[in-house]
Amino acid sequence: MSQVRVRFAPSPTGFFHIGSARTALFNWLYARHTGGVFVLRIEDTDKERNSEAFLNVIYDSLTWMGMTWDEGPKVGGDYGPYRQSERNDVYQHYLKLLQDSGRAYEKDGAIWFKLLGERHEVFDEHRKKTVVKVKNTPAIIEDQIRGHVERTEDEDFVIVRSDGNPVFHFVNVVDDIAMKITHVIRGEDHLSNTSKHVELFKAFGAPVPTYAHIPLILKQNGPGKMSKRDQGALIEEYQRRGYLPEALVNFLCLLGWAPGDNREKMPIEEIIRLFDLPGVNQSNARFDEKKLAHMNMAYLLEKPADEFVRLAGDYFERSGAFAQNRPDESYFRDVMVLSQPKIKGLEELPGYTKYFFSDEYPVDPKAKDKIMGKGEPKVRLAELAEAVKSADFSSDAALEQMIQVLASTHGLSVGDYIHPGRLAVSGTNVGPSFYGLFRVLGRDRVLKRIERFLATA
Ligand code: GLU
Repeated sequence: MSQVRVRFAPSPTGFFHIGSARTALFNWLYARHTGGVFVLRIEDTDKERNSEAFLNVIYDSLTWMGMTWDEGPKVGGDYGPYRQSERNDVYQHYLKLLQDSGRAYEKDGAIWFKLLGERHEVFDEHRKKTVVKVKNTPAIIEDQIRGHVERTEDEDFVIVRSDGNPVFHFVNVVDDIAMKITHVIRGEDHLSNTSKHVELFKAFGAPVPTYAHIPLILKQNGPGKMSKRDQGALIEEYQRRGYLPEALVNFLCLLGWAPGDNREKMPIEEIIRLFDLPGVNQSNARFDEKKLAHMNMAYLLEKPADEFVRLAGDYFERSGAFAQNRPDESYFRDVMVLSQPKIKGLEELPGYTKYFFSDEYPVDPKAKDKIMGKGEPKVRLAELAEAVKSADFSSDAALEQMIQVLASTHGLSVGDYIHPGRLAVSGTNVGPSFYGLFRVLGRDRVLKRIERFLATA
């Protein structure tokens, strides 16, 4: 078989959303799986609804997710230009082919595609006018996902509007022919257009591509398809929030596809190896934000320290968390490494680590009531402060030993020191490991904070 050529053909009429990203991804995966070519084609013939800003969002989002295109805007290719707004002469050429073969005609200023078959006039109750019906045979589509689909076109349809603008069906098919597209992988919302497209391919004497219509993505709660307006629908939002692109990509793969062995988290090379169109589900997939967050956490957890610290630094930078004060590099690193196993996403980090970088942290009143309301926590804190003065801060184990000795000396449990100790140095009763917390803060901060807390508590 000749080389697979697939295309992702977005219309830049809105922000890039989960559904478009998944369509792009399935095309990209199929191209990579088969050693084929992934084409990016911009369907921007609708001048009023398209914008340059949306176009850049598409390029940025695809690039961020690692879906590099082999042909298309910016990279070129043998079948360009790859923006429909620049392909008018191609459409004129193909239009002339239809006109010359008697398959296009003018009526009411528009240009119509002519179906073959016996014609008769009928009154259409719904549209309240007489229309010409054509006795036509069904277009047969052996869809790689939907299976056998038959649909009959029985009315001619417009291919160039009276304002001279070519219609989606026409340019879409012309470009698939001109760009030698072998497989059309797109959203199920286009299944109903496919019979028109098949008629056009045949009229041009061109081979009909193999179709694969991907089921819809349902919104998280309630019925209905996920739209760009639904919460969590926009790709750039995840980028802004510091999600890892590899986690998002892995999650998107599972919206309608599965490797068949219950595995979920998988390296992209493995997904490429296993992905195939018949493996795509026929039923709709439901978007699940929690699952995405979980996937992101799983990827973050396994990042080597250096990379995690770099990602965290980028996120602090972008989100403005460094604006007031830029911490010492090695201190920042220690704080991030300590927090890595505790957070679900990078976006939690600035809040989670705030008290490391500023002495002005609030004290959680609930935690305070609970911890300071029983036993003699102030006495314990004074004992702790004394022990901290000569403690070894070089490792968690040394600090743990210090607390154990302290507790057994006074016939108490380590919790009697740990709970007020944590509250005093961080203002909260949750956080990273206690010994790690002390080690990273260091003797000076710990001592200063405990003393200040004792003075005010
Ligand atoms: N521009 C169309 C869309 O965004 C592409 C349809 C197709 O892939 O054929 O839905």
